[in-house]
Amino acid sequence: MNLFQLLRKIAPYVRPYRWLVIVTLILTFIGSLIAQVNAVVLDRTVDAINALVSRPQFDWAHAAHILTVISIVLLGKEVLSAAITYAQQYFGERMRIFVSKDLSQAVIDRILSYRMAFFSANDNETGKLQTRIDQGVSSLSATVQNFFIDLLPLFTSAVLALILMFAANVWVGLTALFIVPVYIWITIAQARKLQGWRRNMRMYREQKSHGVMNIIESISVIKSFNREQIESQKQWNLQTEFTNNQMLVRKTSFRYDGLKSFVRQVGTVLIIILTAYLVLSGYPGMTIGKIMYHVMLFANVTAPITQLQRIFDQMNDALIYAEGFFDILDADAEREPTGTYRPDVVHGHFQLSGVDFTYPSGTKALHHIDMDIRPGQITAFVGLSGAGKSTIVNLLDKFYEPDSGQILLDGVDLRQWDTHFLRDNIGLVLQKNHIFDGTILENIRYGRPDATLAEVEDAARKSYIYDQIMALPNGFQSKATALSGGQQQRIAIARMFLKNPPIIFLDEPTASLDAVATEQIKASIDAIKQGRTVIIISHSISQIIDSDLIYALQNGRVEQSGDPEGLYKKGGVYRDVVDAAARSLNIDKLARTIDQELSS
Ligand code: ADP
Repeated sequence: MNLFQLLRKIAPYVRPYRWLVIVTLILTFIGSLIAQVNAVVLDRTVDAINALVSRPQFDWAHAAHILTVISIVLLGKEVLSAAITYAQQYFGERMRIFVSKDLSQAVIDRILSYRMAFFSANDNETGKLQTRIDQGVSSLSATVQNFFIDLLPLFTSAVLALILMFAANVWVGLTALFIVPVYIWITIAQARKLQGWRRNMRMYREQKSHGVMNIIESISVIKSFNREQIESQKQWNLQTEFTNNQMLVRKTSFRYDGLKSFVRQVGTVLIIILTAYLVLSGYPGMTIGKIMYHVMLFANVTAPITQLQRIFDQMNDALIYAEGFFDILDADAEREPTGTYRPDVVHGHFQLSGVDFTYPSGTKALHHIDMDIRPGQITAFVGLSGAGKSTIVNLLDKFYEPDSGQILLDGVDLRQWDTHFLRDNIGLVLQKNHIFDGTILENIRYGRPDATLAEVEDAARKSYIYDQIMALPNGFQSKATALSGGQQQRIAIARMFLKNPPIIFLDEPTASLDAVATEQIKASIDAIKQGRTVIIISHSISQIIDSDLIYALQNGRVEQSGDPEGLYKKGGVYRDVVDAAARSLNIDKLARTIDQELSS
């Protein structure tokens, strides 16, 4: 991406603030004019005072008049300049902040509309996506600031000063014009040279803060293995590399800064000598005042260029980050597809025929799946982890589209269904409870934002969590994240009751929970299962044997299907899974213990 493309891309975000831009530009121009006042005043003052002292008789009244005029002009200029600088900075900053806000919101709105595949693509992992967005927003708004607040004023002022120098004398103008490119060239060389190192610095900084985070997160492991020394050494190595790099950057910067300052001084000396020569040789219009005048104008020409390096750096950053950022913002192909079909009643009859599916990462997860998932029934998916069970649920929720084959819901191709409408009719409870930062009330209400308190309480009762919530000091106003895993899971189920969808997917809802929590959740799930299409993925036998129909999956294929008892008798994948589960429970011994207890 080049600078022109970049500016074209941010133009739509700057457009709403075009009045701010125009006002800022006008202020910029006035500011640049005012910046030249000192030089002009000094030129006149030197000449006037020079004329005054060379008179045989000193005229106090005339001197007082000159001093008064100078004071008024210079002070007036400062007041005006302060006001303009303030307004310019305020408007410019306002523009930067608002553009930054709009960009942040735009990218959030966009990614919310993207399909699941976008998020599971390799280079869009959560951390990477976040970094790209943050860096994109901050470097793009810095570009807006650089361009309108820094670069334009600086260059208007430099160009004006240069014009005044040419107007005063062509040779003086040419001298300045000759020095400026040399100066710019050194600045750009400096920025280029530092670019790689600056990128390293950023990398080291990220690693450093990551390092601290890692230590805090794994502190119990570090301490229990006595690995403090190793962790400290890791950080030490990083710090050393960081410091070396930092010193290199500083050293190079100082060298180039010295060179630039030398070139500027050479320019100043050349201009003094040239003007002095012109004055001495009686060049028309050349007075002693002109020496000061030219030197000050030259300072006005070079001052802005000292800022050039910083601006150059930031623009380079923007060019680097903008690409990644606009890739996210303009990923039109990632928009979630939707149809228009919105029937009055959803029965929940899924039919899959010949469904193949491959994840964006290239993992082929499903091979030729045929299924018939009937309304009002509980269908269980059984199989080892990685068999493809969750993937099917992902397809039924339209999170992904199959590579080939067809999925029908109530006889209509899933692609024709309005995606939002479809999801309004599906309840999804996942293994990892999706509890948000907020109160229990807010978390349950996520199922239906307009639900009344009574409805929320009713949902909590149905999922057998009401009493436990009421026992908390703040009841429904307690923080949901402070609940135990099993309780959070029942909050998720309560949310489902509130949503009340005809179709429910339960994806290992009791995995990683203890036996008591599992039993309580089973009660909540049994309550919600009534009269709906339910798909349950579970390793818990107690939940599986309650189902009407079982699909046993292996390596992305349906190996067996049928009712629990029939399938078990047949032997095969399902029987293996059930037997393994029974063995892991040590059912024999358990039965004997219970028997003894009963017979004694
Ligand atoms: P199960 O639910 O039976 O444990 P999954 O449906 O989660 O199995 O996974 C099936 C296969 O697809 C596995 O090989 C898994 O690694 C892969 N997979 C699952 N989710 C993704 C994803 N988001 N991106 C890439 N591959 C995935």
